Amino acid sequence: MPSKPMPDDWQRALVVAAHPDDIEYGLAAAVAVWTAAGKEVHYLLATRGEAGMAGVPPEEAGPLREDEERRSAAVVGVTEVEFLDHRDGVLVAGPELRRDLAGAIRRHRPELVVTGYFGPTWTPPGVSPAYLNSADHQALGQSVLDAVADAGNEWIFPDLAEEPWRGVQYIAVGELLDPPHEVDVSGTVELAVQSLSEHRRYLELLSDDPVDMQARQVVDMSTLKEDGGRRVGFRLYWG
Ligand SMILES: [Zn+2]
Repeated sequence: MPSKPMPDDWQRALVVAAHPDDIEYGLAAAVAVWTAAGKEVHYLLATRGEAGMAGVPPEEAGPLREDEERRSAAVVGVTEVEFLDHRDGVLVAGPELRRDLAGAIRRHRPELVVTGYFGPTWTPPGVSPAYLNSADHQALGQSVLDAVADAGNEWIFPDLAEEPWRGVQYIAVGELLDPPHEVDVSGTVELAVQSLSEHRRYLELLSDDPVDMQARQVVDMSTLKEDGGRRVGFRLYWG
C-alpha cells in the first residue's frame, strides 16, 4: 500500500530516544525537513549513552556523547536537547521512566511526539538476517507511548510539578517496512550524513572506515529509496 505524507498541522515536535546517535540513525533526515519548513523540534534523550563506547569509561563517555549529540542536533536545526539521567543499558519500561518522560513532555509541550522503531527485531529492506533491537530501545518506545497519556493526566503522577499537557495530536514511530506515512527526505540526505558524522569519537571506535563513509552507509540503510527519491517512514498514532 503506498504511504501517505505525514500530516503537517503541527508546529512543535519532541523527538525522544534512548541514546545519543539513535535519532541520527534515520530520523534526523526528517527532522531537517521539518526545521527547514519553520517547525520547532526538540530532542529528549533518556540516557547519555555512557555504556556505548568500548574502552572508554562511562564517566568520560557520557559527557563526550552528550556533546556529540548537541552538535548533531545543531546540524539539523535543533537547539533544545534535554537529557534525562537514566542509566544506559538498563532502561526499564515502567512508572519511573514514564514519569520522567511525562514531565519532559509537559515541559516541551509538543503537538507531535516522535520516537524510533521499538519492536524486538528490525529488518531494513534487503537485509537478512534481521537485527536485534536493544532492550533500551524496546523499553523506551513503549514508555513514550504511555507517557503521552500520562502527561495529560493529573492523577497518575500527581507529584510532577509541570502542568498537564494534552496537546499531543500525533505520535510517530519510525517504521522501515511498508510505513503507512512518510517524509520525503530527498533534499536532506546530506544533512543527515553530516548530523550522524558529528558522533565522531563514537563512530571511530566502531569501525576503521572513515566516519563520513560509515554515516553515509547508515543513512542509506535507514532511509527508503523509491523512484530515485528518499523517504523516512513512520507509523502514526493519535496522541
Ligand atoms: Zn540506541
